[in-house]
Amino acid sequence: MKALVFNGPKNIQYESFDDPIITNNRNLILKVEKCSICGSDLHMYHGDVIGTKLDYSQPMPKFCTGHETIGEVVEVGSGVSKHMIGDRLVIAGGKGCGQCKRCLRGEINLCEQSGLGGDVGAYGIMPGLNGGHAEYLEVHFADISAVKIPGGVSDEQAILLTDALATGYYGVKMANVKPGDSVAVIGQGPVGLMAAEAALAVGASRVYCIDPDEARRNLSAHFGGIPLSPAEAIERIREDTNGIGIDAVIEAVGVGPTLKQAVRLLRWGGSLCVLGILQKGTELPLQIMQAKSLNFHAGIAGVVNLWEELIPLVQGGRIQGKGVFTHEFSLADGAEAFRLFDAHEDGVIKVMMTL
Ligand SMILES: [Zn+2]
Ligand SMILES: [Zn+2]
Repeated sequence: MKALVFNGPKNIQYESFDDPIITNNRNLILKVEKCSICGSDLHMYHGDVIGTKLDYSQPMPKFCTGHETIGEVVEVGSGVSKHMIGDRLVIAGGKGCGQCKRCLRGEINLCEQSGLGGDVGAYGIMPGLNGGHAEYLEVHFADISAVKIPGGVSDEQAILLTDALATGYYGVKMANVKPGDSVAVIGQGPVGLMAAEAALAVGASRVYCIDPDEARRNLSAHFGGIPLSPAEAIERIREDTNGIGIDAVIEAVGVGPTLKQAVRLLRWGGSLCVLGILQKGTELPLQIMQAKSLNFHAGIAGVVNLWEELIPLVQGGRIQGKGVFTHEFSLADGAEAFRLFDAHEDGVIKVMMTL
């Protein structure tokens, strides 16, 4: 088959790769129809690190990239009971062991095998667990990690359910956003935009959408967000909250300056959820966080366990994800899609790749 293959930093190529085969009878093979690039894929593209194990500046065996994929089932293992050939599926972005308590609850991200080595983790970010920027993808433990594309959900929305929307919604949950709350979302890439739309969907009274890129932050105004530049955010939010500060911040960047700003914006006793993938050495103002008695969470969305709440919100039109996909490529032009997405060229927010 053909696939986008990681050959090292800034070197993802469309090339031939072995067809996947079913390696466990609980797995299935998906013929990929559409896929997208995640902001976290750029860490690999830049030669950064993810977690404690993956350092992309070092040589490693080739693998297919991508964890945001939808497609049609073309082969099922004998142990798969929920899916049949011909079904169109949304996948969760990763693979757990498939049998621990947390995997069975859909919290694949909290699999008890995580961090113990092996191939547990997101698709397409490490050798041995090939991703869905490919003509075919082996979906692991498909009964717990994939769902049929529900009625009333567009292909674009289905792709958002694989990761960006689930992650944004996870931020809303972990930052304890309640009806009437004021919320700031720092970083208006796809995940930040989806977090802002989800915060409004669950009843936030005001959602400030902060990004230095004017075009990016202005997109949030389409669904009721309040676009702010980083420079104007502190003063505007202080004014609007009578000097008290904001109830919740969802941080979707993961670097020192934005984390510091998040802590400054929060009211005493407020909540911060960090969704941005943190790099080694990133500093948090812990003393201020303690003095302000902040609730703090940093994590990776479980995806599957959020679908039950999220899918009806999408079907009911409460979350639409409009305007997130700005560019379309064929998978064969995936190297260019990566380049443009990384360069923030041409007003890109998110790219759709079709096969
Ligand atoms: Zn992702
Ligand atoms: Zn597990």
